[in-house]
Amino acid sequence: MKIGIVGCAGRMGQMLVREVAATPGCTVVGGTERVGGPAVGKDIGLLAGIEALGVPVIDDAAVLFAEADAVIDFTSAEAAERHAALAAQGQTALIIGTTGLNPSQLASVAAAATHTPIVQAPNMSVGVNVLLAVVEQVARTLGDDYDIEVVEMHHRHKVDAPSGTALGLGRAAAAGRGVALEDVWQKTRDGYTGPRRAGDIGFATLRGGDVVGDHTVVFATDGERVEITHKASSRQVFAKGAVRAALWTADKTPGLYTMRDVLGL
Ligand code: NAD
Repeated sequence: MKIGIVGCAGRMGQMLVREVAATPGCTVVGGTERVGGPAVGKDIGLLAGIEALGVPVIDDAAVLFAEADAVIDFTSAEAAERHAALAAQGQTALIIGTTGLNPSQLASVAAAATHTPIVQAPNMSVGVNVLLAVVEQVARTLGDDYDIEVVEMHHRHKVDAPSGTALGLGRAAAAGRGVALEDVWQKTRDGYTGPRRAGDIGFATLRGGDVVGDHTVVFATDGERVEITHKASSRQVFAKGAVRAALWTADKTPGLYTMRDVLGL
């Protein structure tokens, strides 16, 4: 499979170049960076800290989408929306790991997915996707007596909060309770908040250092607390999941898929 990587000079982009190059049956067909970005023109392999691949970083995503069977996107919300339109045009499969998309950007991605397979997941690690399934089940079993809080910590460079994974965990818990997350979320608390509203799902965000991604879902009631935690210690788990998702799209019809589809969970 010919795989392209948009944002190939980023933290995840470089990891993805290494992962695709090391995966049998996959070729790094090319990569892009922002127009005027310092990586444009450099060898994509050398940039990622491996051997030269003889493929320079380009700044025209349309060229990459025309060449690739699948493109992996860990860039920015605005860029991901544009890349989804290009994927639809060329019927290239697209894997979106980028988080922080607003409702209108999410709608553009869903529209693009009517023309080509798109896998979108706020967290591509196998462990977190198992956690999503478990959290939904635990929320359903414990019922409304348990207050649900999602706590997350990430490195100091992260630009969106709460993390896409934290929101995904909240959504799984809400699904277990048969409610829409948007009706019950408390994404921040500040000042005089009054007592906790029954049924809310709360979020707490920590930022610092080089933390790759820690998430805990707390189910608290009188007399006991259940906490379910996932800690990622290397970004490689996200890259591995993204490449697995790209390979999975090979025989798929257009549609918007998640990692739970890819993993058959
Ligand atoms: P980063 O800032 O290190 O990398 C982003 C790269 O994208 C940069 O090199 C930037 O120049 C490039 N870029 C931006 N706009 C572009 C455009 N229009 N064309 C081409 N390149 C463009 O960030 P990161 O830590 O690699 O994270 C990127 C995204 O992936 C974030 O949204 C993050 O939350 C998300 N993420 C998701 C997962 C997951 O499993 N789904 C895991 C880690 C990170």
